[in-house]
Amino acid sequence: MFKVEGNIYVTRSSMPPIEEYIEEIQELWDNHWLTNMGEKHCLLEEKLKDYLNVNGVSLFCNGHMALEMTLQSMRLSGEVITTPFTFASTTHAIIRNGLTPVFCDINSENFTMDINRLESLITERTTAIVPVHVYGNLCDVESIEQIAHKHHLKVIYDAAHAFGVKYKGRSVASFGDASMFSFHATKVFHSIEGGAVCFSNEELGLNLYRLKNFGIRDEETIDAIGANAKMNEFQAAMGLCNLRHLNEEIIKRKNTYERYIEQLSDIRGLIFPKQQEYIEYNYAYFPIVIEKNAFGISRDELHDILKENGIYARKYFYPLTSAFDCYQGLFDTYSTPIAMQISNQILTLPLYADLSIESVDRICSVIRTTQRKVF
Ligand SMILES: *Cc1c(COP(=O)(O)O)cnc(C)c1O
Repeated sequence: MFKVEGNIYVTRSSMPPIEEYIEEIQELWDNHWLTNMGEKHCLLEEKLKDYLNVNGVSLFCNGHMALEMTLQSMRLSGEVITTPFTFASTTHAIIRNGLTPVFCDINSENFTMDINRLESLITERTTAIVPVHVYGNLCDVESIEQIAHKHHLKVIYDAAHAFGVKYKGRSVASFGDASMFSFHATKVFHSIEGGAVCFSNEELGLNLYRLKNFGIRDEETIDAIGANAKMNEFQAAMGLCNLRHLNEEIIKRKNTYERYIEQLSDIRGLIFPKQQEYIEYNYAYFPIVIEKNAFGISRDELHDILKENGIYARKYFYPLTSAFDCYQGLFDTYSTPIAMQISNQILTLPLYADLSIESVDRICSVIRTTQRKVF
């Protein structure tokens, strides 16, 4: 049927011109300072403060450790309200801190926390909310702020998908007590591996600085049970290079995104998350929800047909984190029916800056032909 001209994977890391990276790391051969908050590290923190328009940025070796240590630094206890429609990291970070996740369902429009269900889950044991910005769509940050304020809860956003997104002109990084970003190679902005926490409370910044470096306050004082989660100079150098190209990156992603919408929007049974008002997007992912009754075949079947055609889409997020094998018997996955349903119907299609229009068309035509054959 379709000639497979090489496989198309769900994502492909963007890289700066190699000369630019070499120039960036050249100085490391002069000063031999490779990690532990070196020059590149400090420079990247400053550039990110500017770009994200926040008072504080603390860099980490990856996004997961950034989230785990943010929760640790706040000395939380008891229950934390979060959503199960997310990457393993969010739930693991809560549980690895000895906290109990309480799962709130998501809304079916953009798959973030359903604000109408949030308040009923708050108990006297609740100490924080960890909402997730999904695919670059933002949570209802205003309602969350209001509810958190009323009940004296901390808010820590998993903003791994939302780097560079703005709401009413305001940086996504400025909401809540802290926001975690991932700079993993597959993200819109990356430093190979890496992550950051944005915050405005200076003391939180100092705690994070210590925790990611074994809890060392000074040479002879170790007063926190930290670990090692520092970003090294090669990662920071990659971040500095990629930050220079971020605007082009987002424009290219936007073009791809719009081509998908153009090609797929009239297909019965395919639903796209609702674009929100007042948001400047980063076009991080292209998810589709497949309604079997209208589309003709299920998400799993479409996933496999695409694969036979050399196109690797991803069931992301599936399964729900509350349904993971490692948590068997701990959580009631039926308490979040919308999350369960979306997770069974969701498929994220390939999207990255260098994905050609021809490739998008090839993907869309496989989807279209598949449906025509069914009906
Ligand atoms: C990527 C991601 C993380 C983890 O980030 P790493 O940098 O890979 O550790 C956490 N949460 C979500 C939603 C993510 O997509």
